[in-house]
Amino acid sequence: MADIFRLELLPALHGDCLLLSYGDADHPHRVLIDGGPIGAYPALSRRLQALPADERAFELLVITHVDADHIEGCLKLLNHPELATFKDIWFNGWPHVGQPLTEPVGTDYALGASPPPGQRSAMQGMEISVRIDDRSWNAAFRGAPVFVPAAGPLPVRELPGGLRLTLLSPRKVDLEKLRSAYLKALEAAQIAPEDEVALSKRLDMKAAFRGVTARLRPGLEQILDSAALATGPMDKAVANGSSIALVAEYQGRRVALLGDAHAPTLTASLARFASGSRKEPRVRFDAIKLAHHGSAGNLDEPLLDRVDCDTWLISTNGQLFSHPDAAALHAIVRRKPGARLVFNYRSEFTAPWDDPQLREAHGHTALYPDDADSDGDGISDGASDGVVMDLLTGVPVRRETRV
Ligand SMILES: [Zn+2]
Repeated sequence: MADIFRLELLPALHGDCLLLSYGDADHPHRVLIDGGPIGAYPALSRRLQALPADERAFELLVITHVDADHIEGCLKLLNHPELATFKDIWFNGWPHVGQPLTEPVGTDYALGASPPPGQRSAMQGMEISVRIDDRSWNAAFRGAPVFVPAAGPLPVRELPGGLRLTLLSPRKVDLEKLRSAYLKALEAAQIAPEDEVALSKRLDMKAAFRGVTARLRPGLEQILDSAALATGPMDKAVANGSSIALVAEYQGRRVALLGDAHAPTLTASLARFASGSRKEPRVRFDAIKLAHHGSAGNLDEPLLDRVDCDTWLISTNGQLFSHPDAAALHAIVRRKPGARLVFNYRSEFTAPWDDPQLREAHGHTALYPDDADSDGDGISDGASDGVVMDLLTGVPVRRETRV
């Protein structure tokens, strides 16, 4: 039976919700990366309901980091096992970062790093954690936090069916910063980490450590007038820096799933990735899901120089944070001739990249959900079905052939 390797960018509003499918087209393995903000949950729920009932045992759920636009849909989904179950869940929540972190010994992770039961239950009400219950949790890392060791090879895990995942982010130091931020936020709110009732009432707590500052972001006109490949200022948000970022490989194809990770961390890990057995000066990707919804704060020249890639995936409707940044996309189309920008929404921030003059000037192409929609009903109501990339052929999948 034919094999598939597909990445679906669900319509997750301003967030991420990625469905990766691989293996036998009639019975693929699946991985979910993030669940989008709560407003996007109906779309996720609908998508999962459309799966055959016997295909909802996912190999893995990756919750890249604690921000609402990635975690909220997961929180709800974990209460709905009738929609999906997960053989393993990768996430660095309080139970994982609240303890002293130790570098793994050799290529493996230390045994016994699993959080003690008391600590688990104490945190169950914490909005920024996730219900642990009896689920398998960072099992591929023996219950330890998921991070890239300071030295040695990058952590690699192979899932049933042959999907190979290599970890690029976060580093231990990123999780230590997250722990300090948690503790500072708790102290400011005068809440003890064990006080789950108080924690569950502090739904606004995250704002204390999110570290989002308003940035002066130039518009498209200014960007196009500028000769420089200017991105930045670089993202310093602690929560984003704690993002789990991965390379996923299957059947010789390779996609980068970058969460909201920081560019210097990614660049350093990609150098390690390239210096392994592959000896590639640049790392070739069939597609890259841009970090932080195409923010200019999460892409820089060293990162662009480290990769060879034609297809750049951007997940956001532009709400709240006005992503993607024109500067980031401009850097890509300038630096990577013939780049293909794939958006899961046609918004005021993504539509300009479809301008014929702009496309001609830069030689790029832009794809939107309606471009992938071949049912020809011609209805454009602003809603999105997301986009599905066939990573084996490198082209968007027609809706009626989705599996
Ligand atoms: Zn995000």
